[in-house]
Amino acid sequence: MALSSNPRILICTSYRRFRDDFLDYVGENVYLKPRVSLKRKQSPALRFLKRNVPELEILEYPLWRDYVKKLKEGWDVVGFSFFQNEIAEVFEMVREARRHGVKEIWAGGYGALDEAVPREVDRVFTGASEDAVAQVFGKRVTDVLHPSIIWPMDFIPGNIPYLRMGILYTERGCPYKCTFCQTPSYDKVRFNVNIDSIERVLREYSRTGVTDVLVLDELFGISPGFADRLTLLLARYKLRWWAQSRAALFMRHLDTWHERGLRFPLIGVEAMSQSSLDSIDKKQRIEEIVEFERRTSEKKAMYRMVYYMIGYESQDARTLWDDVRALKSVGFDAFQVNVITPFPQTPLWSETESRYGIRDKFYRHYDAKHLVWNHPHISPAEMHYLLRLAISYLNNPFDIYARGFARLVKERFTAEGLRFVWRDIIRTPFESMVRNLMEQGK
Ligand code: SF4
Repeated sequence: MALSSNPRILICTSYRRFRDDFLDYVGENVYLKPRVSLKRKQSPALRFLKRNVPELEILEYPLWRDYVKKLKEGWDVVGFSFFQNEIAEVFEMVREARRHGVKEIWAGGYGALDEAVPREVDRVFTGASEDAVAQVFGKRVTDVLHPSIIWPMDFIPGNIPYLRMGILYTERGCPYKCTFCQTPSYDKVRFNVNIDSIERVLREYSRTGVTDVLVLDELFGISPGFADRLTLLLARYKLRWWAQSRAALFMRHLDTWHERGLRFPLIGVEAMSQSSLDSIDKKQRIEEIVEFERRTSEKKAMYRMVYYMIGYESQDARTLWDDVRALKSVGFDAFQVNVITPFPQTPLWSETESRYGIRDKFYRHYDAKHLVWNHPHISPAEMHYLLRLAISYLNNPFDIYARGFARLVKERFTAEGLRFVWRDIIRTPFESMVRNLMEQGK
């Protein structure tokens, strides 16, 4: 179907099934309360599209009734950006859009790599889509601009504001090819986001009381020149930053990046057995993981978090637990634990499908917290139990609060004194609360 040169386009995320149905990055991995939460209330994909193609409208995590109300405004195109575990909800939204007379449906995001998606929609976008969408309006986006994106970090229960986390996503793609990861199939073209627009965003974050920035790049620092300019900017605006990368890359730049504000490095440890690491083509040695822990432990006020997976094909319950214990003994501060999951268009998907069979067709289970394939030694129920046990053991309250956060607070207080008390304990929570109230009042 040919669109007009100025079509009405609405891009949505999947809908929220209930009011507080936001992905909480902390809640997935820490069971106890009180704790902090970090909720994905704004969608980076949608914010990037809107920033670069202002002609379209976006709708982030609406409740169902708000989505239907929006559909009634009449649209030429309704598009969706989503993950694998959100496909069922998105298909419901697609059917509703068609019922409202929408003629063209688009899909993008990692979820659009699933083979069922092209049958339900009219156009599938893979990877960064700012330029492809702009072309519908007769324009090109050759230099992607960065939008402002904020996620709240609150204390729960009670959703008491603690800070507003500034989000950056500065570089797309990754040159590695870990077999479980969709990034190599999804982001085939690697590029950096416009650095001047990043500076504008950082200036705004700093001006509005943001103290911490989470960089979502899959592999922070893979372009050394760009990372140098970016880390200088983060330092100029006196922001503490969180970033995910590989142990070897962090170690190469640790002194400089720590000086420039790196305080929360995240690495993909994935496994403590070299054969498991090799089986997913991680190209990482156990010695690097241990060395990374040692070197970062010598840096003041640093909190080290790791991604880790259980359920490799060679593991049974006992060897799985041995691996968890080996990880704990290394000494990191906090852990995101996942069950190894085959996702569409990854080498792991085809290997698992042909060797064992992928049993679970329930999309919600593709959240990396469920066993979705026929594991040779562990059942889904056992895996569920082992996952909960591993999370409780690795992220136990004493270690993450009494040991980890207490050390952090002590080191920050020693380094910054009353400035720390003013900025982190008084001003930031107060500003977050005020801005929350202002946003609710809009
Ligand atoms: S897991 Fe990380 S390093 Fe491996 S391919 Fe994915 S983004 Fe790259």
